[in-house]
Amino acid sequence: MKRMLNEAPSFREEMIGGYAAAFGRYLQCVPGASGVMANGSPAPGRVAVVVGGGSGHYPAFYGLVGQGLASGAAIGDIFTSPPGEQCYRVAKAVDGGAGILFTFGNYSGDVMNFAMAETRLRDEGIDARTVLITDDVLSASPAEADLRRGIAGGFYVFKSAGAAAARGDSLGDVEALTRHANERVRTAGVGFAGCTVPGQEEPLFSVAPGQMEIGLGIHGEPGVRIGEQRPAREIAAMLVETLLAETPAGAGSEVAVLVNGLGGTKYEELFVLYNDVAPLLEAAGLHPYKPLIGEFVTSLDMTGFSLSLFWLDDDLKTLLDATASSPAFTNIGPEVTRRREAVGGGRETVSAAAAVAPSAPEATTAQGDDSIPGGETGARARAALRNALTAIAEMEAELGRLDAAAGDGDHGAGMVRGLRAAVAATDDFEGTARQTFINGGTAFQDAAGGASGALVGAWLIAIGTGLPERDEAVDAAALAEALDGALATLQRLGQAQAGDKTMIDTLAPFGVALNESAASGATIPQAWAAALPAAAAGMLATIDMISRRGRASRLGERSRGIQDAGATSMYHVLLAFGKGFSTFVPVMAARSPRQAP
Ligand code: ADP
Ligand code: MG
Repeated sequence: MKRMLNEAPSFREEMIGGYAAAFGRYLQCVPGASGVMANGSPAPGRVAVVVGGGSGHYPAFYGLVGQGLASGAAIGDIFTSPPGEQCYRVAKAVDGGAGILFTFGNYSGDVMNFAMAETRLRDEGIDARTVLITDDVLSASPAEADLRRGIAGGFYVFKSAGAAAARGDSLGDVEALTRHANERVRTAGVGFAGCTVPGQEEPLFSVAPGQMEIGLGIHGEPGVRIGEQRPAREIAAMLVETLLAETPAGAGSEVAVLVNGLGGTKYEELFVLYNDVAPLLEAAGLHPYKPLIGEFVTSLDMTGFSLSLFWLDDDLKTLLDATASSPAFTNIGPEVTRRREAVGGGRETVSAAAAVAPSAPEATTAQGDDSIPGGETGARARAALRNALTAIAEMEAELGRLDAAAGDGDHGAGMVRGLRAAVAATDDFEGTARQTFINGGTAFQDAAGGASGALVGAWLIAIGTGLPERDEAVDAAALAEALDGALATLQRLGQAQAGDKTMIDTLAPFGVALNESAASGATIPQAWAAALPAAAAGMLATIDMISRRGRASRLGERSRGIQDAGATSMYHVLLAFGKGFSTFVPVMAARSPRQAP
């Protein structure tokens, strides 16, 4: 696969550099953060709308930063949620004093990372709220509509949020209108071929000749089902029928229509599709309003497209028509005035932070006492992190393959980035095991991104905060207790249970076994070794499970038969930690006082 790139790890940074250099008339880089902000921000007294997600989706999300659209965007690595720290920094940079509205697609990595930023802003007294985009009707049943993922229809949600914020609506009103926009948009899509991540040779999935994936994801996730390749008119009929079956309550007859290409489909093909869509809508008594045909959310070079319908009312039409100017979307509209009443007044505000991550603050604000001298256990903890990096780096490609089978293929890369940062942050450190895990976990969280960046980072930090202050007090029982606490933190953050086909399935049985052998008086290396078989069995058990958390959960039965990527990486992390904990550490060296900073 030929790609315009220097070295794969610097792809994101170089891409943002070129983007900001070209579009300085709309936006600039956020100093010290992976993101961009609109010129003129922070806008005093205006709500700041912050979007974001992994890259590889241009013009989502940072193409929509500008006047009348998003105030800022946090930009992650390809298909990987930006770390919570980066979301926080972008929000801080654009905060104009009237609050922050986060809006982004419903993916567990994004939800967890933005929730951390939201919690932190609220702790500082900045009002921050979240509206998740859930337009993909094929990704979950109507009964589970709030579990649906966000795809191209998100454009209308961003546009509504940005227009409401630009005219000076209060945070409560911007939030209510954004939520209302999300409730009025529905999308369904089809994929003809998978996409290839820069630096990799193979596409994330491939589609057999004569077939197509129905209900595709925008991270190279395959569709929820496979169908026979059909002519455009039949695909149009299938998509229109699917969307109309989900007409929102109270919807009128005017609909904005968006035909979105996924990156590898020509505009001409999209026009062919619209040629079939328009009469079907008219036949159903709907009036298409200002159709948009083009690329709004891509998935690298994936071929395929989606159809979105956005059922308008007076409020939403006004917001859609409002002036906007950003690199990827410009509209000159009439002057709009501030609205008076909130849509669905009194609707309860649900913040992502409150909904999903009661434990998020401990993950980002964990502090400890760096000055307590470390002993052998601290040195062994650092050996554990180093071993984990070596082990996971060796299997990076394999973990990517496991993740690609049902997810987006980035798990190995994210784990390596995180562990590399954890090792770099602790390597010449001589503190305690407690401090090593806290510092390493914090660095992991900031570097890795994605669901596992938030989860594994929080897990490492929680191991640290669960350990005794002094290394001398760390025995097998104390370590087992810290692992129990870390598992509880991870479960609070990710809301997964054993059996959901996640890393929990490795960690939970390991914790039970570790406690048992610690109770029998074993040393740390003995107890750890005795518990590893339970972790291995848990990892293997994920093969037969159906995914119920994370990206893969949208695939239902199609996720069965593949070992979970996170369960696999965590088993190898535990295996590597065991080797680290039994490393011989010369006591004198390990006990030497900390170097002066
Ligand atoms: P992303 O899903 O953001 O691409 P990764 O690919 O790095 O993140 O990690 C995927 C792994 O994370 C999955 O294989 C699963 O083990 C784990 N995972 C995803 N969501 C959750 C969750 N809510 N709770 C626990 N583990 C999860
Ligand atoms: Mg992934």
